[in-house]
Amino acid sequence: MSDAPQPLESYLAGSWRRGAGVETELTDPVHGTILATASAKGLDLKDALDHGRKTGGPALRALSFADRAKLIGAIADVLIANRPKYEAMAIANSGNTKIDAAIDIDGGIGTLKYYARLGGPLGAATFLLDEKPVRLSKAENFQAIHLLVSRHGVAVHINAFNFPSWGLWEKAAVALLAGVPVLAKPASSTALLAHEMVRDVIAAKVLPEGALSLLCGSAGDLLDQVTGDDVIAFTGSSETASRILRHPNILARGVRVNIEADSVNAALLAPGASEAAFDAFTKEVGREMTVKAGQKCTAIRRVFVPADRADVVADALLARLKKVTLGDPRNDAVRMGPVVTRAQQAAAFEGIGKIAMEAQVLTGGTTAPAIDGINPAKSAFVAPTLMRVTDTANASAVHDTEVFGPCATIVPYKSEAEAFALVARGGGSLVASVYGDDHAFFARAVAELGPSHGRLLMVEPSIADVHTGHGIVMPQCHHGGPGRAGNGEELGGLHGLRFYHQRLAVQGSMDVLSELQAKAYALH
Ligand code: NAP
Repeated sequence: MSDAPQPLESYLAGSWRRGAGVETELTDPVHGTILATASAKGLDLKDALDHGRKTGGPALRALSFADRAKLIGAIADVLIANRPKYEAMAIANSGNTKIDAAIDIDGGIGTLKYYARLGGPLGAATFLLDEKPVRLSKAENFQAIHLLVSRHGVAVHINAFNFPSWGLWEKAAVALLAGVPVLAKPASSTALLAHEMVRDVIAAKVLPEGALSLLCGSAGDLLDQVTGDDVIAFTGSSETASRILRHPNILARGVRVNIEADSVNAALLAPGASEAAFDAFTKEVGREMTVKAGQKCTAIRRVFVPADRADVVADALLARLKKVTLGDPRNDAVRMGPVVTRAQQAAAFEGIGKIAMEAQVLTGGTTAPAIDGINPAKSAFVAPTLMRVTDTANASAVHDTEVFGPCATIVPYKSEAEAFALVARGGGSLVASVYGDDHAFFARAVAELGPSHGRLLMVEPSIADVHTGHGIVMPQCHHGGPGRAGNGEELGGLHGLRFYHQRLAVQGSMDVLSELQAKAYALH
């Protein structure tokens, strides 16, 4: 990378274009250096969306699922070939450690590979059959089937700053397999990696023209330009989500929108959990707090423990956090880097301050940690911060405040019923993990916590060392949570394709329907 800030370009309507001026400076959160700039000012987004609809859509829809799956595999191959430079970018622009960068980069590549594998067996089909034929009248020859056909618009993907790679590819893989062209808009502050990856994929010419566009810079009038044929998949804060949902054009045209938003996720230590379950619990909470400096939408924010074990849990977590070396992630001894910007640092301190009004700060807090060789006036570090609520019954900030940083709060509970009720106060979350040994307790947890979550991870000692982690989103599984988390549904294997298809009933003679059935891939 050169020292001069690079203006990121957008790939729109088949060419790389530069917006006017500077809307956002992309910085290195360790040293404050400006790495690049982004601007979408003056870019013609109507034209860009038209290009996707008229060029990319027809080209993708002309391909079978198996052929689209090959394209997705080819994207993964391009990214694998260029991986070393991506890691350096993730370290520079996002303050990632190598492990953090791998979660983002390899998470994106892994999701592409998963959908490439999943799509192959769908073969020559170009649409999906949802259910068996249903009879509608006495005449046996007149029935109905339910089909899913690719939508004719563009998949507009608006992504959050914390996963510039995974966020881009976990959405694009599913849309492309569904035959829908993508216009991806990474969050401006960390767009460097997404920009480079898309540049490589476009240069490799592995996709039909118009299948993938990139908007670097602010959304501008993007929401004014979408039509009812397009879909929007958004990941980010609930404030932006509600702005999108209330946008007059989105409302007027009934644009389909998927929201993946904030989440105040929980980890719950079951009453009477064994020492082995206890260890699995503290290990996962410690890891979740510090991986990606706590900037995962799925990270554990609330830590529910039986009141009589709150002290030992606090001690065990403090001992783990003490071992976490903070600093410049270019140094291999460093275990946790900064948050991505000074604005995110300020937001994290504000959130910690709010929760601390009702909690004791056990370690960390609202001031930048002192780190050798790092200027606190230019960097964006937040110390791992563990708090413990002082009055469980009356604390509310812990349930309402998503501190998007390395921070979690212990909430002691007195009974199982109280624990379940407290977890649900998150108002709808992406994920909760439960640690214990009693299968009957796990079953009650599913019934009580299930309605307010998109995913539950049940950890008993037998899977303590093999589970994929509380915060890791697996493409095989549903991703999205109810309520505050946005009511979204992403991934989940073939289920994810539904968002990019129109489901319709087709009524007709069995002769016609049988021919259609033969051309479709049956989901059931
Ligand atoms: P954000 O500020 O809401 O921004 C998200 C995206 O929306 C960015 O690309 C941003 O662009 C764009 N945006 C902002 N205003 C917009 C508007 N008026 N119209 C259209 N797009 C607009 O969120 P963030 O700070 O990047 O991300 C952090 C949040 O994301 C956290 O709350 C986290 O929980 C959530 N998150 C959720 C998930 C999930 O899967 N549920 C995953 C990751 C993160 P600019 O950057 O150009 O402003």
